[in-house]
Amino acid sequence: MSSDHHIKQDSLDTNNETQKEVEKGDMKDNRSDALISVRNLSKVYKLGDIEVPALNDVNFDIPQGQIVFVVGPSGSGKTTLLNLVGGIDSRTEGLVYIDGQDITQYSGRKLTLFRKENLSYVFQFYSLIPTLTAVENVELTMELMHVNKKTMRQKAGKYLELVELADRMHNFPSQLSGGESQRVAIARALAKEPKILLIDEPTGQLDQETGDSIVKLVRKIAKENGITVILITHDRELIKYADRVIQLRSGKIISDKMQSQ
Ligand code: ADP
Ligand code: MG
Repeated sequence: MSSDHHIKQDSLDTNNETQKEVEKGDMKDNRSDALISVRNLSKVYKLGDIEVPALNDVNFDIPQGQIVFVVGPSGSGKTTLLNLVGGIDSRTEGLVYIDGQDITQYSGRKLTLFRKENLSYVFQFYSLIPTLTAVENVELTMELMHVNKKTMRQKAGKYLELVELADRMHNFPSQLSGGESQRVAIARALAKEPKILLIDEPTGQLDQETGDSIVKLVRKIAKENGITVILITHDRELIKYADRVIQLRSGKIISDKMQSQ
């Protein structure tokens, strides 16, 4: 990633302090200087008269650069949590601080701008545009960022190289395997040079070996670039790539553990 990447400066300033604070486990205190702080976060979906509780009083702090996996059975609230942190769904109660700003207070336009500058999302189904080639799919995120055509192509090439797909640049999605499509989706997310990468079940459609290599690659790229990652998976085999594993059940955190690599 480019040397002027804004993450690097932040990490110099705050990372050590934040790390210590999280290790003390002071989860319910007021906002810390962690990159992501979630406080008493709850979500109830309303379907007519029926209320579906999806998330129930969730609290955590994530320091810059940490790789957090969220695990739990289907329906436990994993995607809901990711959507609330990513500002693409609204909470029923609670606060979501990112870089000290409570994004739950942001209006539509401010939130869109904030997301554009700070977050990238990799959705559960790669969501590549079928009529665009791999490199054009990666360029898509940059079109919103006022980058000129030549720089855009260079950057897209660089990110495809990073996910080891330089030789598939001009393939259309239909000419890519599931694993390759997922890597294009990851390259596209990285091309925004986000502080935070949110990834929902990246291996759901992939075989074990392909899924393993992709998650390993995500970890490597994130660590090299100081990107903070929240990754959802229900594959227990993959949690070896996490710094920390948060387990959800019925919308509640039932365990939150650091792991050494
Ligand atoms: P997970 O990602 O862990 O499978 P979700 O966050 O998708 O779980 O869902 C948590 C709960 O919220 C489930 O009971 C699910 O049925 C419900 N839910 C999710 N999205 C919606 C929605 N848009 N409308 C109503 N209920 C929803
Ligand atoms: Mg889900």
